[in-house]
Amino acid sequence: MTTVGFNQQVCKVCGTKSAQVEMGMRSLWKPYELDGRPSDSYRSSLYMMMQRCISCGYCSQDISRAVESAAVSIASERYKKQLADRSWPDTATAFMCASFIAEDAGDFSAAGTWAKLATWICEDDRTHGDHALIARHRAIAMYLSAREKHQHFAKGEVAELLLLIDMMRRCGNFDELAKLAAAAQELSSDETERALIQFQLDLVEDGDFGRHTIAEAMESID
Ligand SMILES: [Zn+2]
Repeated sequence: MTTVGFNQQVCKVCGTKSAQVEMGMRSLWKPYELDGRPSDSYRSSLYMMMQRCISCGYCSQDISRAVESAAVSIASERYKKQLADRSWPDTATAFMCASFIAEDAGDFSAAGTWAKLATWICEDDRTHGDHALIARHRAIAMYLSAREKHQHFAKGEVAELLLLIDMMRRCGNFDELAKLAAAAQELSSDETERALIQFQLDLVEDGDFGRHTIAEAMESID
């Protein structure tokens, strides 16, 4: 169960004290869709994951802690631009800002995951399709960098490839997807994984850019 409360937090970057939402216990998400997105019943906790300093705009799960380079990230043009851009949903902006901070600190795995969460927030509101695409492209780029640096973002290499494959399909990046699918097929000897790869390739064949659940993919095995 997740409990939510307010707590006075001192921003690690600028020292300003403010009331911030604090989740007592993180919900244990179960991935529901092929990109790991949880079902609707867990979605609300996404909106309470981020704290934002009211003074300097530092965005983090816990603003009382910060990586050393956070102050430099917050002062950067892209961070200030994102924070000032009111066309994005606030929560998505907080995730994008956290993604910038993680990238600047060399944590590409976290940078990818924060951008992926920004994508989900944008997709909760159909009017933010363009923003969802920007965030998803960023998540893919960060995860590809993570792979180069041997940083992990899913359980096992095939799981990482499957995540990237789904995100690329959602962006219509079918050429790159085909290369990753071939690599995943080469690596995997697991029947479920192989079925998930084939399910993705079938969706590509149908020109399907949409959201699909893991349950749907599993049904296709039967
Ligand atoms: Zn601050």
